[in-house]
Amino acid sequence: MEINFQGKTALVTGAGKGIGRTTAIELTKCGAQVIALSRTQADLDSLKAEHPTMRVVHCDLANWDEARSTISNLGAIDLLVNNAAIAVCEPCLIAKPDDFDSMMNVNVKAVLNVSQVVAAGMAERGGGSIVNISSQASMAALAEHVIYAASKGALDSMTKVMALELGPKNVRVNAVNPTVITTAMSMAGWSDPQKQKWMKDRIPLGRFGDPVEVAYPIIFLLSDKASMINGVLLPIDGGFTAC
Ligand code: NAP
Repeated sequence: MEINFQGKTALVTGAGKGIGRTTAIELTKCGAQVIALSRTQADLDSLKAEHPTMRVVHCDLANWDEARSTISNLGAIDLLVNNAAIAVCEPCLIAKPDDFDSMMNVNVKAVLNVSQVVAAGMAERGGGSIVNISSQASMAALAEHVIYAASKGALDSMTKVMALELGPKNVRVNAVNPTVITTAMSMAGWSDPQKQKWMKDRIPLGRFGDPVEVAYPIIFLLSDKASMINGVLLPIDGGFTAC
């Protein structure tokens, strides 16, 4: 099975680091014209230096108006990966209102903002495909993930409603729900060897994932090979949620 995105334009948010960066690179290898959006210019500069055909866009998705205007000026987009997110881990009894607002703003509200602009264009041009990057944290209780988990639970619900409303316009919307993947974000919360052991003991495959193990399922869901898949929340968790 070969996936070829020649002639397609893909927007990846949060493409500066981690899963987003790897997905942007893998999409380029599949022939897509990739627009890599992120908020740290140095990450975008290094991405552009490594992959000169990639178009890089500096934008802070936390700002609704700035993001909307930036996305509106990108031109036609066929494939969208809503990947950008932030994670602050705190016990539920001391979780802070500012952290609630910032995580909901980037992890949920910004996805709605970007998707509204991009999906409207997809529908006008006859179709498209969107993948939202959710988390295992929306499907299973993880200590100190109270706000992050709530934000990803909201993203799962948003994915299903978008799939319902946009399906008739030939725009498919799906989500992937990874377990711990070795990136800057996860290493901030999972560097403690005891915590790592607790989690790995509950993953039947016995290990954390690599970003490319998320990028490939994203690419499959984006592609026509997944043409009848709409509204799914796909665990990428080595079996964690099966147990
Ligand atoms: P990461 O290494 O922290 O990378 C996230 C990227 O998103 C960074 O380039 C970051 O830019 C960008 N970003 C964050 N806020 C942004 C904003 N307001 N505007 C524009 N860009 C922004 O994270 P990751 O581990 O690759 O995670 C990617 C996705 O997978 C997220 O949705 C995350 O919730 C999800 N996920 C991750 C794991 C995991 O274990 N890693 C597990 C499950 C789900 P800056 O660096 O400049 O902030």
